[in-house]
Amino acid sequence: MKSLWSDEHAATFVKKYAKDSGQDLALRTYSSRLLGMTKELVLHGGGNTSVKGEIVNIFGQKVPAIFIKASGQNLAKIAPDGHPALDLTYLRRLQTVATMDDATMLNELRTHLFHAHAPNPSMEALLHAFLPAKFIDHTHPDAILTLTNQVNGAAWIQKALGDLVIVLPYVHPGFRLAQAVATAFAQNPQAKGMVLMKHGLLTWGATAQESYEATCTLVSRAETVIQDNQKPAATITTRSPIETQVRYQTLAPILRGALAVATGNPDRPHQRFILSPMLDTQTQEIMASLGCGNHLLSSPITSDHLIRLKPLPLWIDNPSQITEAVKQYQADYQEYFKRSTDDPTLQPHDASPRVIFLQDIGVICVGRHSAEAEIARDMTRQTLQVKANIAAMGDYEGLSREEMFQMEYFAMQVAKLPPVAAYSLVGNVALVTGAAGAIGSGICRKLLEQGCQVAATDLAGDPLDSLVAQLAERYGQQIIGVAMDVTDPDAVAQSFNTVVTTWGGVDLVVVNAGLAHVASLAEMKVEAFRKLHKVNVEGTLHVLAETARLLKLQGTGGDVVMISTKNVFAPGANFGAYSATKAAAHQLARIASLELANDDIRVNMVSPDAVFADGPRKSGLWAEVGPDRMRARGLDEAGLEAYYRNRNLLKVGVTAEHVANAVLFFATRQTPTTGATIPVDGGLPDATPR
Ligand code: ZN
Repeated sequence: MKSLWSDEHAATFVKKYAKDSGQDLALRTYSSRLLGMTKELVLHGGGNTSVKGEIVNIFGQKVPAIFIKASGQNLAKIAPDGHPALDLTYLRRLQTVATMDDATMLNELRTHLFHAHAPNPSMEALLHAFLPAKFIDHTHPDAILTLTNQVNGAAWIQKALGDLVIVLPYVHPGFRLAQAVATAFAQNPQAKGMVLMKHGLLTWGATAQESYEATCTLVSRAETVIQDNQKPAATITTRSPIETQVRYQTLAPILRGALAVATGNPDRPHQRFILSPMLDTQTQEIMASLGCGNHLLSSPITSDHLIRLKPLPLWIDNPSQITEAVKQYQADYQEYFKRSTDDPTLQPHDASPRVIFLQDIGVICVGRHSAEAEIARDMTRQTLQVKANIAAMGDYEGLSREEMFQMEYFAMQVAKLPPVAAYSLVGNVALVTGAAGAIGSGICRKLLEQGCQVAATDLAGDPLDSLVAQLAERYGQQIIGVAMDVTDPDAVAQSFNTVVTTWGGVDLVVVNAGLAHVASLAEMKVEAFRKLHKVNVEGTLHVLAETARLLKLQGTGGDVVMISTKNVFAPGANFGAYSATKAAAHQLARIASLELANDDIRVNMVSPDAVFADGPRKSGLWAEVGPDRMRARGLDEAGLEAYYRNRNLLKVGVTAEHVANAVLFFATRQTPTTGATIPVDGGLPDATPR
């Protein structure tokens, strides 16, 4: 591991931050980012750093202070305010206290911050305060963990780092660890750093550079020992990536269904999860070579991983037993919780696994939403590599069950996973057809706001690409674009499979793709009629059929919302092809509501009147219909919008957001309703469904 330190870059941090935050904190920010951007040192909010200095209080007095990384902050992106200041003199006095539980420690930290609104400092804050060095870096380097998490871990560390470091056996992070670190340091103040067994590395220095480069030096030495002691791996043949993906697509919905946790709420009976698979050759090779023994089927490599990965993964060797295997894991987890605590105030986490080995296929990581699933995947990828390196030189030895439970339920760790709001759509996957149009884009945005994962589908091309790019700026990996032609049943199945591969399944389908055409019956070309039939009727049929197949496979119910039209109830002259085909589609949705109710799949309709645009995104349907309507009535565009506004009882213009709100009403299951229609038309008595 090479040092990334650059005097030039360091100077840019000093220039940017020293004026407001001081030179020390500016350089602390720089070297913290260097640590954070190195995945082999820390992942997703792991590790913590500090610098000691002073603050000037309201009386103008200089007071000793320690600036410690805030809990859960990502070192790679940290700014000076990511290191809140605490009263160093007071924190050091805490060293003399005999014992302190986690809640008391948190309270002591919180009440000795210098700013009332500062975030909570790292749970390892006292460790930083008790050590005398000005700069302290604490990381969880892969190479150090590869050596410490072995049966002969201490001997390997000795071999790699000799007398450069102090070695401390595993101690529960928090007050006890801080005391143990301070005591060990006092006995050997010449050391360059400290290895915390099954946890990580501490280094220190008078400058940011000295402490950072001590980390680089120690980690490099550990890497060399690992490299020199790897036994050669056996050659393993794995399945082709395509074959693996196809097998995964058939199993993922069953797995996702099995993972869902019962909520006890009859309207929303399942808490669902998002899956993030690792189906690559390297993962398959590690699985095949290590098998389901102690190396892979064992505790995470540090206690920091517990909150994301759970104490143990699940290994499924028989795909036909997925549901049973998951149920058994959930029962075992509940039993582990009961056995580990008699505290009646402690709430168990959900019992579903976060890491699942599907034999011959890959590793599936699980989260309550995509961000969690992806963090779990990054941590699992790192864990597999570390465990594979350990297997090539010795035997894995992780944390004990008691240590794991303490950390899994440590309040400051639990706080890193905020609860999911009850009526949001977090953990749900929606597929929206015709997403690139005005109504479709409004629906996508609304669902994203509610935390839903959204697969925006439409014909391939710029309208879809630009929509996804625009929404991804704000919602990141919560949205994907999938090209789909609803008239082609194979393309529809393929698109659903793409979503299954990405997130594990689908829960909500918004059937929105549609075409319009203007012609009187006398002038209607049958080809034009057939074109609308193909999209509006057959397209709806294909999407409903695929939805039914997938949702039944998952077995956790689901919702379909079809964007119908006021024309189904009040058709318009010269609008025969549209009105007739939409009426057929509407009827198909009603039939789906009859056929799917037994599986708790609700199918409802929304029937809007004219929606012209969603912001700058013009309605494709109105591009087709508008000019004719304007000609017929002698109006311009603004005049036409006014005409539609004035024809309804409330005299309002209907927007894409209004339609999206109606979709959300059904998607969040506010009422036990299926086969019903909500008009979104400002009040058109002729078009009111009855
Ligand atoms: Zn740590």
